[in-house]
Amino acid sequence: MTVIFPLEIKCALCGTSTTQYGLASTNEFGSRDLDLRPAQMMRSTMHNWVQQCPNCGLCAASIDKAPAGAAELVRSPRYQALLGDATRMPQLARWFRAQSLLEERGGDLASASHAALCAAWACDDARETEAAIDCRNHAIGLFVRAADSGQSPTDGSERVGRNLVLIDLLRRTSRFDEARTRCQLVLEAADPTHRAIAQYQLTLLDAADTAVHRVDEAKLPESKLPKARATKARPGARLLGFLGRLIRARW
Ligand SMILES: [Zn+2]
Repeated sequence: MTVIFPLEIKCALCGTSTTQYGLASTNEFGSRDLDLRPAQMMRSTMHNWVQQCPNCGLCAASIDKAPAGAAELVRSPRYQALLGDATRMPQLARWFRAQSLLEERGGDLASASHAALCAAWACDDARETEAAIDCRNHAIGLFVRAADSGQSPTDGSERVGRNLVLIDLLRRTSRFDEARTRCQLVLEAADPTHRAIAQYQLTLLDAADTAVHRVDEAKLPESKLPKARATKARPGARLLGFLGRLIRARW
């Protein structure tokens, strides 16, 4: 059951107090998408994963905290133009993109890439195809930069998990050759679940399929099929948390 509660939060930048809505708990039934987008009911709680200060425009998982450098960026024309441009993408997507910019400025590329991915999901829900592609390309750049900057997980399985998300981002944006290259890397992994997902992605790539697909469409080992689960929700849960679920083979 999804439980949402109101709470007064003071903006870390401008001090304005507003009522925001936190997520106490939710549940998840069924398989995630190949980019690890949660199943219902967690899937429908994205509005509670990001908050926006209506006064200064700070966007964050909780606006009582702001990444380093946020004050300068929030005041910038670039940031305010992104927030205010309703023609570019839906409001929720703009909030996640703004959060992504701020996390990037603060040096947390893992959180920045996850926020960019959430922006793509918000565009998917609004059927804004071009905006979703733009957000996925933005997320791809952040994922790769996170790896290059040493923010990639040192654990081998987590690196594979990150590659699986990247493969789906690349496929959904028609970057098929790059996706195939990363599939080959995953196929060298020992985990049969990861290999099964990579094999399924190769099938989709051969068909030039850019549509959304679920993890349980792959021929996973029987014990790895998805189970219903309830969870204490983590609004804006970081990508590595999602990857952790995959790595722990809870599918
Ligand atoms: Zn504020």
